[in-house]
Order: sequence, then structure tokens, then C-alpha cells
Amino acid sequence: MLTGESVYTLLKAAEKFLNSKGLTDSKADSEVLLSFVLRTKRSKLHLIRDQKPTDKQVSQYKEYILRRSQREPAAYITGFAGFMDFEFKINRSVLIPRPETELLVEVALSVAKKENKKSALDLCTGSGCIAISLSKLGTFDNVAALDISKNALNIAKENAEINNATDIDFIESDIFDSIGDRKFDIIVSNPPYISETEYSTLEPELGYEPKIALTAKDGGLFFYNEVGSKVLDYLNNDGVVLIELNANKLDEIRQIFLDDNYKEIEIINDYANLPRILKAKIFK
Ligand code: GLN
Repeated sequence: MLTGESVYTLLKAAEKFLNSKGLTDSKADSEVLLSFVLRTKRSKLHLIRDQKPTDKQVSQYKEYILRRSQREPAAYITGFAGFMDFEFKINRSVLIPRPETELLVEVALSVAKKENKKSALDLCTGSGCIAISLSKLGTFDNVAALDISKNALNIAKENAEINNATDIDFIESDIFDSIGDRKFDIIVSNPPYISETEYSTLEPELGYEPKIALTAKDGGLFFYNEVGSKVLDYLNNDGVVLIELNANKLDEIRQIFLDDNYKEIEIINDYANLPRILKAKIFK
């Protein structure tokens, strides 16, 4: 990649380089990073394909492409990730929001609408992507976002400001330890759910993400056990729990909620047809 090249030739060179390093989505990565350098929308790149970026822009782009070739996720390089219709600021204190998790938000919004649920708690909020999307797209009277990590909560608060979600309560807490006697209509969570064994087999990109946001004790079941045994105390009558699933552990997780305290247990599949969400209602 040389200075004096056009947008088009830079993109082609970057794509070829990333392909040669074994990356599988090199076209998307090359475009996302160049549009970030040029402060333009990815969808507008083709309109400026013959323009020649400045030397400074080219050297910045080279640096980003090199970082990406070392498997740093593009979202950590740009510091932003899209989720639902919003942009979230992210850094290495928080997990990069995943497209699959959008389904969790959509299901929570539809349950809230159908059953007139007015309050929601997002456990393990990380970047705040779930809580903020619920606050922006739903008609809740109150949304709370909880995390054990102060650094994550700081990012979540910034994201609430960036997205103008002004009504969220942020709670620093190790799961339910510091919630006090608050109760909610819906509790939603995308908890860490990868076991140590699974962790060792993951793509190198995940090594850049906070391990605390990915892995859980008890073979990845720790949060499901905690939620299954304690969430009752924090839900209003007829309250609903919605939790993202580790698709490899469906039977074990379902077993935790096959208990007299829960009814109407449903497993909802994602767009790849994998079991992705467990929905349960409390029996009181
Ligand atoms: N709730 C955040 C997300 O879905 C963070 C989840 C986590 O840290 N496990 O992206």
C-alpha cells in the first residue's frame, strides 16, 4: 500500500493483504477501517473511489490494517460498534455487541408491549447496548443497567449520553448483591457463558475482549445457576426473565429453569436457527 493511491486501489490492496493473513471477511474489514480513516460512511466509499487520500490518512490506514491482520477486532480499532439502530462507544473493558444479541432486545420489546411491562433490568450490561436500546425503543417507565465492572459502567454511561437515553439507572453490583429491594417486570441478560475449555478453542479476536465478559465458572453455567435461583426475588408478579443462551449447553440451562418457580419456559432460536434465548415466567 503506497501513498498516492486511490480509495479503490487502497481497498483492493488491504483486502488482498488481509486475505493473505487468513482473515475471512477482509472486504468488510478493509471498508470499515478506510471509512473510519476518511470519516465517511462505508456505503459512500464507492462515490469517492478515485479520490486520493492524504499521506497521513494512508499511513493511518496502513497501521489499522496491520492491527487487524494481527486479529485485533475492527470495532476496537475504530472504538465504535453498531447495535440495533445505534452506535456504541467501546473499548477493551467491554464486549463488542453481537448481532445475535439484537434478538434479545427485540424479544424483550415485544414481551413488554404485549404484556404492558414497564420496568426492565439488564444484568451484565457491558457497553450498555441492551439497556440503552430498550430505553430508546421501548416505553418503559424505568430501565436499570447493572455490571460488576466500574470501567464497563463508565462506558455504558457515556453510551447513554451519546444516544440520549437519559432515564437509565446504573448499578454497580456483583449480580444481585447490591440491588437492594428493587423489583422489575423484565430481567434481561447476555451473561458471560463460555467455559474454560471452550475459551481455549476460540478465534484469536476474542483474546482482545475482556475475559470476565466471556467466561463463567461451573463450565459456563455460573450465571444461569445464579439467575435461576435468585431472580425470583427481583421480579414483580408475572415477571419475565430473558437470558441469552450458550447454544452448546441448552439442555443443562433449560434444566435449571425446569423448576416449580417457573412457568411458560420457551426457547427462541436465532436467525441461524440456533437456540439463542430462554424465556421464563415466574410462578407467582
Ligand atoms: N450486555 C452486553 C452485550 O450483550 C455485555 C455482555 C457481557 O459482557 N457478557 O454485549
